[in-house]
Amino acid sequence: MALERTFSIVKPDATRRNLTGAICKMLEDGGLRIVAQKRIQMTQAQAETFYGVHKERPFFGDLVSFMTSGPVVVQVLEGEDAIARNREIMGATNPADAAEGTIRKTFAESIEANSAHGSDSAENAAIEIAYFFAGCEITG
Ligand code: ATP
Ligand code: MG
Repeated sequence: MALERTFSIVKPDATRRNLTGAICKMLEDGGLRIVAQKRIQMTQAQAETFYGVHKERPFFGDLVSFMTSGPVVVQVLEGEDAIARNREIMGATNPADAAEGTIRKTFAESIEANSAHGSDSAENAAIEIAYFFAGCEITG
C-alpha cells in the first residue's frame, strides 16, 4: 500500500442539493483526508479541458454544460491507495450499477449528474491536481 493523492470534485448536482458535507463525510469515513479544497464556478474552458479525453463522445457537450451549471468543490484527497479507494467510495459511473453505500448509489441523479469525480490513474491525478491547485495550496 502506498500513500497517494488523488483529485476529487463534488459536482453541481450535489452542491445544488447541499450535499457537500455529506459527500466529504463519506470520503473521510472511508479513510481519505482532504488536504486541499475550494468551491469554484468552473468555466466552460476549464470543463472542456478537464474532460478533454471525452471530447469525441456524444455526451461531451451536455457534460460540459452540466459541469458549469453551478458551483463545484474541487479537492485533493490523501490516503493509502487514495486513487482506487476514492473510486471505490464513489461507486460505478452509472448509479444504477453502483454498489450499496457508495456516493453515487446514495446521491447520484443520473449517469451524468453523478455527484462526484475521482481521478482514474496516478498520472491523471497529478495532472488534475496541478490544473486546479498550486503546490502551496495543498497542506497535510
Ligand atoms: P469521472 O471522470 O467524473 O470521475 P468516471 O471516471 O466514473 O467519472 P468517465 O467515463 O470518465 O466516468 O465519464 C466522465 C463523466 O461523464 C461521468 O462521471 C459522467 O458525469 C459523464 N458520463 C459518462 N458516461 C456518460 C453517458 N453515457 N451519458 C452521459 N454522461 C456520461
Ligand atoms: Mg473519469
